[in-house]
Amino acid sequence: MLAMAEPDAFGEFEATSLFCPRCRRATPTRKKLLLVLPTGHKYDYVCGECGTPVGGKSDNDSRDFYRTIRPQVPTRKSS
Ligand SMILES: [Zn+2]
Repeated sequence: MLAMAEPDAFGEFEATSLFCPRCRRATPTRKKLLLVLPTGHKYDYVCGECGTPVGGKSDNDSRDFYRTIRPQVPTRKSS
C-alpha cells in the first residue's frame, strides 16, 4: 500500500523571498520537496515568478523517511 499524502505536506508554505538572478530582484519563492532521506528532507527553492532555482534547504526530520519506507523487520515465521 502506498503511503498517503498528508495535506500538511502540501499546505506547508513559507513566505520566503530570495534573490532571483534571473528576475534580478528578490521574489517570493516556492518550496519544493525534492527528496526524503534517512537524514531528513531536502527542499529546493524556486523563484515563484520564473521558476529559476534560487536555493536549497534540508532539515533533519527523518520521521517521514521511516514512516514512508517501512523498516524490514524479520517477523516472518514459517509455522
Ligand atoms: Zn525569477
